[in-house]
Parts: sequence; C-alpha cells; structure tokens
Amino acid sequence: MGRHHGFIALALALVVSACGSDVPPSASQQNDTVFQYSTLNALLNGLYDGEMTIGEVAQYGDMGLGTIHGIDGELIALDGAFYSAHGDGSVTRLTDDVKTPFAVVATFNPDKQAALDVGLNYQALQDVTDKLIRAPNHFQAIRIDGVFRTLKLRSEPKQKPPYRPLADVLKNEQVVFDYEKIAGTMIGFRMPAFIAGLNVPGYHFHFVSEDRTKGGHVLELEVASGTILIDELHRFEMALPGTDSFQAVNLGGTRESEVNAVER
Ligand code: ZN
Repeated sequence: MGRHHGFIALALALVVSACGSDVPPSASQQNDTVFQYSTLNALLNGLYDGEMTIGEVAQYGDMGLGTIHGIDGELIALDGAFYSAHGDGSVTRLTDDVKTPFAVVATFNPDKQAALDVGLNYQALQDVTDKLIRAPNHFQAIRIDGVFRTLKLRSEPKQKPPYRPLADVLKNEQVVFDYEKIAGTMIGFRMPAFIAGLNVPGYHFHFVSEDRTKGGHVLELEVASGTILIDELHRFEMALPGTDSFQAVNLGGTRESEVNAVER
C-alpha cells in the first residue's frame, strides 16, 4: 500500500458570469471562488484523517472554516491566519503542516457592509443578513466583527480511530462554552440549499476572540455591537481525498436531520 498523497482536484465550476472561452480566469474571477476540501457527508461518516495541509488550503483563501486532523477542534481562518479552537476551549494558531479532513475557504473581498443592531440573536442576525443578500443561490462569505453580550460556542475533543460518525461524537462529547461581553470575529458562509450533501445549507459560523484565546462553532449569540461584511461568490471548486476510506463510504443523500444535529 503506497502512501496516500495529494488529492484529486475536481473543478465544479458553477460559473454564472460570462467568461471568455479561451481566456484563463483573471485574479478577480478566482477571488470569487469558494474552495472546499472533501465533503460534509464524508465528515458525517467519520472520515477524520486529514490529508490536505493547512499550507495547501491557504493557497485557496484567507478566510473560512472546517476542522483539523482527528477533529481536534473547530478550524477558523481569518486574515490568512489559521486557528483551531480545541475541545478544552483553547485556541492555537496552526502551522502549515497541520492536516485537515474538511475545510472551506475563500479569498475575502467584501462587496457589502452593514452595522448590526444591538440585541440581535442568531436567528435575527440570519434574518437581517438574508435581507442584505442579493443572490441567495450564490455563495456568501461572511465576516462579523463585534462585541457579543452572550455567545455560545462548541467544540469537541480530538478523536482516535476507529472513528465514530460525527453525530455520535457530538451527542456524547460536544463541549459547550458560554461567554459574556466577548469581542471577536465570526467567520462563515451562507450556502445555497443545493449544496446539501457537500456542505451545510444556510448559515455556518465559527468564532475566534479578539485576543485569539477562545473560539468555536457558533450555536447562539446576542449582539452588543458589530459590523457585517459580505462577499458574494459565484464559483465553487472542490478537492477530494485520495484515500481508500473515501471510496469505501456512501456519500449520497442530504442527511438533513444529521446536519441539523451537528451544525445547528
Ligand atoms: Zn462548524
């Protein structure tokens, strides 16, 4: 058995804008791309062995989210720096050689900005953001800098093989952190409904505190003050693991109840 190295690049170019037939994509077109490694269903199935490195992922974007090898925390990319918010609540900055089993990134060039009202909870924040979005069937990369009156985050402890499905791990081992008056940045995406199976339809945010010591997957919040930045993206690029385990699992279906259990 040879080493598994590299990954299979699969370009699912959902190009909406007109594009010259023999003209290579310009830098600005590339900047309108969501890049993702592996699929959400693979993660739900317990494929937690990372293969792509953070250094490689960083070539495709400077903001985003995901997880790292062995699901050793919640991955957050912000201004080109990659962090993991671990199961004990601590945050570490990741070196380029750390591997990830699932990551979603974009090069952030926001085209919309708005101030957020005091008192918004997570659902109200999503409703407000929906109104700011012009193209709900495109991808939206979103950054929110602010102070939160309350913030509920979660992470999970690193897993060892044989891996259990993600819903089992989170049901038994999810760790929840409640913060008050915390400043920091939420990084995430609003994905169109048709992405089900590959990624999380709707909103998905990870948070890292201003001092980069606390973080996790966002479960609930109340805004004290904040600014939202939105970058509309219309290209999607995907790289798939080259492992045998990726070929051995059923990656079909949208698995809606499982996604709601692990990501909401
Ligand atoms: Zn998450």
